[in-house]
Amino acid sequence: MIRLAIVCPCYNEEAVIEKSAIRLRVLLDQMAHDGKITDDSFVLMVNDGSRDHTWDIIKQLHKTDTRYKGIDLAHNAGHQKAIMAGMMTAIKEADAVVTIDVDLQDDINAIAKMIDAYAEGYDVVYGVKVSRQADPALKRMTAVAFYKLQKALGVETVYNHADFRFMSRRVVEELARYGERNLYLRGIIPLIGFKSTTVDDAISEREAGESKYTLSKMLTLALNGITSFSVKPIYSILTTGLIFVLVSIGIGIYVIASLISGTAEHGWASLMLSIWFTGGIILFAIGIVGLYIGRIYIEVKQRPLYHIREELL
Ligand code: UDP
Ligand code: MG
Repeated sequence: MIRLAIVCPCYNEEAVIEKSAIRLRVLLDQMAHDGKITDDSFVLMVNDGSRDHTWDIIKQLHKTDTRYKGIDLAHNAGHQKAIMAGMMTAIKEADAVVTIDVDLQDDINAIAKMIDAYAEGYDVVYGVKVSRQADPALKRMTAVAFYKLQKALGVETVYNHADFRFMSRRVVEELARYGERNLYLRGIIPLIGFKSTTVDDAISEREAGESKYTLSKMLTLALNGITSFSVKPIYSILTTGLIFVLVSIGIGIYVIASLISGTAEHGWASLMLSIWFTGGIILFAIGIVGLYIGRIYIEVKQRPLYHIREELL
């Protein structure tokens, strides 16, 4: 039996937080009754600098029942960092964590299945959205396009998985070794690489309140999802430069042929050659600089070089 912490990031969630707290509490009781988790498993609410009464409600919940715990971030750090804060705090006491949005759009019944998977030896269990009917069409389409783009750029992520996931203590401890600021957890967890599996997550509508993910927050997340993991965009400058230089050779041949046959206007030949050749060389040079910047970027992240799964010493 494990002591489980359910971590919920909360930003201006006064409309939904109490309902969710009750549902999670019932779930904890049920799972404790089924012998899956200990009696002192808990829900950890992370108040992400809300401007409404979210923190007051969390304090009230904690007063009535200490199995509701909370941390109050001094500033709106954002969804990813709020989850990180919650996991790092929870793991001091818990054996494993599940992260889930406080609006409980994810299927909370999947949590019991995640714990079963852990019992079978999986350290990470991803909730994978089986149906996104509850999401607006535009959100669904952009999400799919984004997953495809990530894949093309070599970012390893789990398709249709957001941040509803189970992690054992050792995974969270390994995660703590990542010091990066541009957090994109969906990209980091697969990098850690312990044995993982997925469970189905049927998405439902938000019970109350509105989405807290503004367009700009979503774009920032998407940008992090690519730039924090892939150097392909910057390296592609080099290839483009090379292509330009190659094209300029073809243009050169054409220009010389036109000069010989006398069809070329005065000044046209030198102009054509400068545009293509100089353009190509400039791109190529920027590409080389990019190559070094790409390497500097990988170095400054100081990511762990490896994660040990088991030791026989
Ligand atoms: N959230 C947060 N900080 C933010 C924005 C959102 O902690 O700056 C939380 C929010 O309270 C919710 C979760 O992140 O628990 C996901 O947000 P939301 O449900 O609004 O996003 P959506 O499901 O619409 O993508
Ligand atoms: Mg939501």
